[in-house]
Amino acid sequence: MLHNFTRRRLVILLAVLLPLVLVLVGRRLNATKVGGQQPAEPFRIAGNFYYVGANDISAFLITGPAGHVVLDGGYPTTARLIMASIAKLRFDIKDVRVLVNSEPHADHAGGLTVLQQASGAELWASDASADVLASGGDDPDMLLPVRALIWLGVIGRYPPARVDHRFKDGDTIHVGPIALTAHITPGHTRGCTSWSFPIRDGERVVNVVSVCDTGVLATQRYPEQAADRERSLRVLRKLPADIWVTNHARAWGRYRKFLASATSENPVEPFVDPEGYRAFIDAAESELRQGRMH
Ligand SMILES: [Zn+2]
Repeated sequence: MLHNFTRRRLVILLAVLLPLVLVLVGRRLNATKVGGQQPAEPFRIAGNFYYVGANDISAFLITGPAGHVVLDGGYPTTARLIMASIAKLRFDIKDVRVLVNSEPHADHAGGLTVLQQASGAELWASDASADVLASGGDDPDMLLPVRALIWLGVIGRYPPARVDHRFKDGDTIHVGPIALTAHITPGHTRGCTSWSFPIRDGERVVNVVSVCDTGVLATQRYPEQAADRERSLRVLRKLPADIWVTNHARAWGRYRKFLASATSENPVEPFVDPEGYRAFIDAAESELRQGRMH
């Protein structure tokens, strides 16, 4: 009798404590995650286009006389690195007018609210991304156990962002002379957005493409996903890309290109990499054909 009573109490205690422990562990991971968010030196890529992200979690600044644009916000804890990078480049966070995002997972959207509060900028998102951003990371396409962990705040949750505008596929956002065209390239998430924009560098204009993540996660599936990925790859193949980037810096060779740029006669040249862009799309296509996930 006593034995049963003790065991029951133990089970109740565990049921109460386990979520608490998971929440605390999750908070700790979020606060200290080193996966790609060590500080990195900010630098000019070309013209008015700058890298302001962490070592692997990308973020970009596009500056202009009518205000600046920041693309992606990193984890909640990456936002302070992004702001320090913007300041180090001698730009003012308060001059950022527009925030855009590649996809609403916590590693690229978590810091948007902090950036929004510091700058007063307006956040633009695709319909599908907007819903997830506004909910603080709750994506209906995620497997239920993963969603449950997000609801508990163990993983992937971030302060809900205020989405000011929703764009459609092919829309162009203007901030003075800056013109960013949104290409909704679903697959990784439904609202995954790639961006194309021209950058003037001296006498030359270079076409930049920021590709949304092209891989799929085992934890996030939806019925039209395979067809979406096929279509997205076709769209991406057609975009003219002199310079290309994506939201994980390792994938586009940030550090290698940054080092090469420091010693290059023309510092922009190492970033001009249309072959690398094609190779990235080819690799995404073979991942799709082989049914691999990441
Ligand atoms: Zn993601």
